[in-house]
Amino acid sequence: MPQPEIVNIITSAPHPYFKKWFRRSCFLALFVIATLIVLFAHFANNGFRVIAIVLTISLGISILFTACYLLYKLHHIDCPSCHALMKTIKNKKMSKYEAVCDQCKIVWDVGIDFSDDF
Ligand SMILES: [Zn+2]
Repeated sequence: MPQPEIVNIITSAPHPYFKKWFRRSCFLALFVIATLIVLFAHFANNGFRVIAIVLTISLGISILFTACYLLYKLHHIDCPSCHALMKTIKNKKMSKYEAVCDQCKIVWDVGIDFSDDF
């Protein structure tokens, strides 16, 4: 992926709310997935095979949808000061994600590391 030009960027700041939102979404997704697994175990153990199969499919769709949605949001972050859609780049030196606002000339540290699965 081509890296955007960041020569003219003059300021760097932590993004005020993206990390919080991202973490909350991850926990919510884990909760829903855990609930589906518990329901699956319950129905599978009690002989409800059709319901267990439907739950397995729902589980697969949930995981896939959540992963795609979070990845999409990570690469489509709003600028906190001008609300423009920003480009998300990987800061390889710091091994973290940053969002660049071309209008404000600000690099926002979104608070997500490479080690956090994405
Ligand atoms: Zn901006």
